[in-house]
Amino acid sequence: FVMKTVDFSDSEDSDALPKQRSSVAYEEILRQRRRLPMYKGRKAVTEAVLASQVTVIIGETGSGKSTQLPQLLLDVDPKQRIAVTQPRRVAAMSLATRVAAEMQTGLGERVGYQVRFQAKLGLQTVLRYVTDGMLLREIMIDPNLRRYTTIIIDEAHERTVTTDLLLGLLKQILANRPQLRVVVMSATLDAETFSEFFGGARILYVEGKTYPVERFYLKAEESNLVEATVKAVEQVNSTQPTGDVLVFLSGQDEIEATAEQLHSRAPNRPNNVPKIWAVPLYAALPERAQQKAFAETPARTRKVVLATNIAETSLTIPGIRYVIDGGRRKVRVYRSKLGLDSLLPVSISQASAAQRMGRAGREAPGKCFRLYLESDYMKMAPHTEPEIALCPVSGPVLTLKNAGVDNVYEFPWIQTPNQRSVANALLQLYALGALDSAGKITKFGSKMSVLPVDPALAAVLVHAVDQEVHVRDAVIDIAACLNVPDLLLTPPVAKQGEVAEARAELFPAAAQYGDLILVKQIYDAYESLVASGAGRRDVRDWCARIAVSPRAMQSVNQIRAQLRRYLRLTRERDQADEDTIDYELIIKSFLRGYPTNTAVGLADRRYQSTVNNQPINIHPSSSLFGRRSAAIMYLEYVFTTKAYARVVSPVELDWLREVAPNLLGSK
Ligand code: ADP
Repeated sequence: FVMKTVDFSDSEDSDALPKQRSSVAYEEILRQRRRLPMYKGRKAVTEAVLASQVTVIIGETGSGKSTQLPQLLLDVDPKQRIAVTQPRRVAAMSLATRVAAEMQTGLGERVGYQVRFQAKLGLQTVLRYVTDGMLLREIMIDPNLRRYTTIIIDEAHERTVTTDLLLGLLKQILANRPQLRVVVMSATLDAETFSEFFGGARILYVEGKTYPVERFYLKAEESNLVEATVKAVEQVNSTQPTGDVLVFLSGQDEIEATAEQLHSRAPNRPNNVPKIWAVPLYAALPERAQQKAFAETPARTRKVVLATNIAETSLTIPGIRYVIDGGRRKVRVYRSKLGLDSLLPVSISQASAAQRMGRAGREAPGKCFRLYLESDYMKMAPHTEPEIALCPVSGPVLTLKNAGVDNVYEFPWIQTPNQRSVANALLQLYALGALDSAGKITKFGSKMSVLPVDPALAAVLVHAVDQEVHVRDAVIDIAACLNVPDLLLTPPVAKQGEVAEARAELFPAAAQYGDLILVKQIYDAYESLVASGAGRRDVRDWCARIAVSPRAMQSVNQIRAQLRRYLRLTRERDQADEDTIDYELIIKSFLRGYPTNTAVGLADRRYQSTVNNQPINIHPSSSLFGRRSAAIMYLEYVFTTKAYARVVSPVELDWLREVAPNLLGSK
């Protein structure tokens, strides 16, 4: 295939920008646009993209790929209907917001977004920023994506499972739709993989200016990352010239802890150093809070953006001169052993470390402080592995089956997943009733695949809605709670006893019925507290007492409403009498999705897995910790020093025999 570098140096300067309502703010937006390499090279880029069916564009983060390319294409051909995919919902919403401002249109008018559980779209919308998952869902309804003339797969370098699936499906769609245009955009130099996959697609390189970044490592190991981060921020603040700081942490909990500590140290900071303005930035944050990261830094203040790896390539924050890199990120680990998807912190790759460092050199020379030893860096993997290589694939396989791909082994995978994980996925889907014995998707399976949750939980929900009307609403409430990350917080060790006591006192049924029921009772109690008109402070105190995240509680209802919509439950809950609610039936309903996440009680309070006879213990965070049951079902599995079951419920062996007759064998 032919590689071609576009030279942007002699692109004409611009007066071509639309000069509509000019306000000071809009002038500023125009100035910013004109500086972007993508904008400067617009002629060459749009010509190249419009000339072929598939184009691969490589460009530094912040060079204007995501915000500019769709606009530039629309300028040339306004009849286009464009979808731009993002791995993260935050990025989709933030980009749509930004581009709506640049195009001087309201969000949801010409530009909109669609992410799981939320959309802003209208009839005039010609440009949609969507999560890759949403586009995948659209393919189920419209297999050839006839709504669009152009699909832009952004952040392709992240190689999420969903992006990989989309690329494979698009390859098939392109064969049916010669008019469809596909652009694959990546921030790293992996162009050949994509180009070869599409039979030698043209590659464009957008050259952005970058400045040198000086790099520093820790000299001695730090055991507490939050403390190390706080120290580093204070040090940068008191010793370094003006410029904002971008900190990479692994997740919300670390971010909040760091923000809190920085905040509490404010009174001790000398007057002659800048104030610190700590701004969290992570996926679960509401849109408005996310926009704070882009806001201008006030005088005599240093903005410190505390971000997850969301800021590594998908969001570009102006004004950053210093990067502090914690060296870790959270990865989504899928079912098989774990009940649900769960997020585990892992070390980043060297390629990631380089990307993070690069964030400091966008506008001027910068500095990067790595909160790990140089020897740790040497031990990091050179590249981040595609997600598909790491995780079981039952969700993706179900998606493909529902998209009409009968033989998933022959699907054009950009990277073929491990054969065994495909086989496991097929087995699990068969066991859940999503596939028939010929491997074809069942009616039950296609109902499952509509739900934006993992197949095990989807099976629970579909089954409950179809079969267990009495507990249907309760099951949905619990599923909504389980879909909010970090609803039940892990209190510091010193407080764990206190929290456990408070939970036991407020929710006595949990000691008998376990964590699913605990979650349900917490949800109900929270709802009545809010309904009773309790003030924000009271709600917060109540949440703190039982170590529940108030922010997570706020998102539960949104997810719950969405699940109900996906399940086509238009009416509000059937007024079931909460006093007569059948806890056992609720637990039994969950067993439908998690028959293999079960263990039989041994004499010494340990448990033995029903699938592989391995020992497993109830995690101390569980309301069933220290209790004995004949058997348990758990939705999460963690291995620290030993194997732990989390989100645990007691089950009866009879139920297990009923739901999964082959599982117990001779036991
Ligand atoms: P790329 O896709 O190449 O990483 P983007 O198009 O996302 O680049 O970003 C181009 C510029 O637009 C960046 O300099 C960034 O600061 C600005 N920008 C992007 N999103 C926003 C936003 N929500 N608010 C303000 N500025 C933004």
